[in-house]
Amino acid sequence: MRFSAKAALWIASGVLLITAIAAPLSPDLWKASLDNIRWTVVCGAMAYLAWLGFYDGNADERRYRRWFFLGTLLYFIGQLLWDVLSYSSGWGTLAYVSDFFYLMLGPCCLVGLLVALKMHVEKVKKTAVLLDVATITISVIGLVLVFYLSHTNSDHWLQMSVLVLYPVTLLSAASLAILINPILKLKPTTANYLFAIGLLMLGVNWMQWNVNLLNGVLEPGTILNASFSVADLCIGVGAMGWHYSATSHSSLILFYKRIQRGIPLVAMFFGVMTLITLFLVAVDPAEKIVALVTALCMITLAMTRQSLLLRDSELLVESNAKVVAFSEQYEQLVNYDELTGLPNRRLFQDRLVHAINMAERHQYELALLFINMDRFKSINNSLGHAEGDLLLAQLANRIQSKLRAQDTFARWGGDEFVILIERLDSRTQAAKVAKNILKLLEEPFDLPKKGSVSIGASIGISLFPFDAHDHARLVRCADLATYRAKKKGRNNHQFYTSELTLQAKSRFNLDAKMRKALKLGQYELYYQPIMEYEEETGETTLIGAEALIRWNISEQEVISPNDFIFYAEDSGLILPIGKWVFEQGCRQLAMWDAQGLEQLNLSINISPVQLHDPNFIEYVRRAMKDYGIAGARLTLEITEGAVMKQEDKATDILLELKSLGVRVSIDDFGIGHSSLAKLRYLPLDELKVDRAFVKDIPDNKDDMEIASMIVGMAKGLRLAVVAEGIETQEQLAFFAKKGCERYQGYLFSRPQSAENFSKLLELKY
Ligand code: C2E
Ligand code: MG
Ligand code: MG
Repeated sequence: MRFSAKAALWIASGVLLITAIAAPLSPDLWKASLDNIRWTVVCGAMAYLAWLGFYDGNADERRYRRWFFLGTLLYFIGQLLWDVLSYSSGWGTLAYVSDFFYLMLGPCCLVGLLVALKMHVEKVKKTAVLLDVATITISVIGLVLVFYLSHTNSDHWLQMSVLVLYPVTLLSAASLAILINPILKLKPTTANYLFAIGLLMLGVNWMQWNVNLLNGVLEPGTILNASFSVADLCIGVGAMGWHYSATSHSSLILFYKRIQRGIPLVAMFFGVMTLITLFLVAVDPAEKIVALVTALCMITLAMTRQSLLLRDSELLVESNAKVVAFSEQYEQLVNYDELTGLPNRRLFQDRLVHAINMAERHQYELALLFINMDRFKSINNSLGHAEGDLLLAQLANRIQSKLRAQDTFARWGGDEFVILIERLDSRTQAAKVAKNILKLLEEPFDLPKKGSVSIGASIGISLFPFDAHDHARLVRCADLATYRAKKKGRNNHQFYTSELTLQAKSRFNLDAKMRKALKLGQYELYYQPIMEYEEETGETTLIGAEALIRWNISEQEVISPNDFIFYAEDSGLILPIGKWVFEQGCRQLAMWDAQGLEQLNLSINISPVQLHDPNFIEYVRRAMKDYGIAGARLTLEITEGAVMKQEDKATDILLELKSLGVRVSIDDFGIGHSSLAKLRYLPLDELKVDRAFVKDIPDNKDDMEIASMIVGMAKGLRLAVVAEGIETQEQLAFFAKKGCERYQGYLFSRPQSAENFSKLLELKY
């Protein structure tokens, strides 16, 4: 807490205590003055604390805290007026002027809380939540009014309405301040609680005060007087620190869910109480009308809520069924090769990752055989694609039948196949398998048109853990060895060997260079527009950009992230680089903001390594605060792998990120290893369809089917979808037809330097 906030609190509490003790002991003449001094000092402190909250808040917080400040400021003005009026004219009609200002506190706090609610509640739940809030507020008000009216005997309508408005406005704000906790699943913080307690206390105090007044008791007593000030201070501290921060505590989330389910019941309880009061105590026609109107409102709201609930649950069941159906089809399509029925590259990688983990744990060896058919292209060209396909299917079948059940045989793509041998005994075993395969291929294949054909293959072999420790490099090593086999005259096998040392040597240089590049300022961010496209009107709108890193080694030599991020992740250098990227992205946004350009949304790529860095959340929070960037303007792009690895931990990290208000997107969706069923439970906002499924549209039917399934599924999960790598109008039209709304690709613009992107932004406005 700031020093000045502490000082304000101490002064106000001191005055409160001294005047509360002094008032009963002093002569009547002094009593009113002491009360006024206390109220004025405390109201001033409340407004000052609320102002500090607004001043210190980030862009998001300012949007609701400005209302809290406005409410407390008006309340303070009301108090000053009261001071003047009570000395000049005493209690009279003029006192209503200060009442007008006092009365603004409740509505302002209510609006502030509604703003926070609107900002953070999920779109689909908005109506239901508002209905819940309205039902419970109306039921509380109804009860209060019926109780209130039965305790008063005033005929003066103006006086009556002013007095009734106090508890109504303050208790409405209080009930929202309480309800917002389970609705937004807020972290329990002192400020949030104090805010609700303060509003509740103030509402009850005003009610008691007014009841006393209406019944002719003009001396409210020290305790009631002091408790007004305690409530004011609670509201001040609450308004200063009230903020949105969702909890990641699973048992609290569960508890909140239960409460949320109980809200309609609680509302009903109040409603029934209102009706009982109507029968038992209400005799006055005004009370009857209030109670009846309340009951009617509640029934209407409850019915609307019920029908909404039914519609929602129907939609949920529908979309769940869709997702399940999609995931089954999708798993088949994305994991298996249609032609040969073998696992495809994706599934193979998945199994390889798993096999490496197991081999590491149980200390055994693996061999990876990369098989590339010799001169397959010429067979394809001379016999046609259909015959080529048949040949591939037959040879795949033949090899498969000779392998052990525990070995994985997959089609890597085109005429390339891979075999994973687990629990390898020796290098010789791998060589033997390679030789057997070459022998198997020597026997001719029968093709309808050509008759019999034989084909050779070049096989590269890499070994775990000798050649590489991760799946990507193990495949690369085997692939390199295949080239050597081809160079050595084809139809033979080769082990990966000497490149290892060479590569390690160049890696060492690369690490040193990447580290130096950070100091030399050689990294630069480029920005690629993300567009919204409306099919009917053909209109495109710029809605954001993705930040993409470049490494400018010299003016002529620019290195693409694909060529160094991988190594940076390996060496851990991605941590300082990623931090630089995030901060630079925020800095650039702040610069564009300062130039008065339209507030851009920015997507930033986050490596899995960063996501599991303990400092990550903290620097995200700090950069947002330092550069005044609201969370809703930032989208963090992470890959499927990052979330699926250490899933529980990743979910916690995502929840924590979401509590900062940032959006979370799954990048390169479709090529990773995620199970769709699991994705359903992650707090995500967006899916980006990987370019791999876009680039061959409209030629590749499989890709089209997968892409359309991804879009359908994302819609089922109510996520935004971005199609990446859109290069042609046909691709755009295809995705638009499937219901995708957001696009990124060369068709709109290549990634641009910040300077060029500024021009793009200026052109637009
Ligand atoms: P990404 O996040 O999927 O980014 C999209 C990539 O596709 C970019 O490549 C972009 O230039 C390219 N692209 C966009 N539209 C088209 C198109 O129509 N056709 C084609 N052929 N390509 C298109 P870029 O900039 O080379 O980045 C490659 C990858 O490097 C990114 O893929 C991302 O995974 C990674 N990366 C880039 N910047 C960062 C960064 O700051 N941090 C981390 N961790 N990774 C980054
Ligand atoms: Mg990306
Ligand atoms: Mg991508």
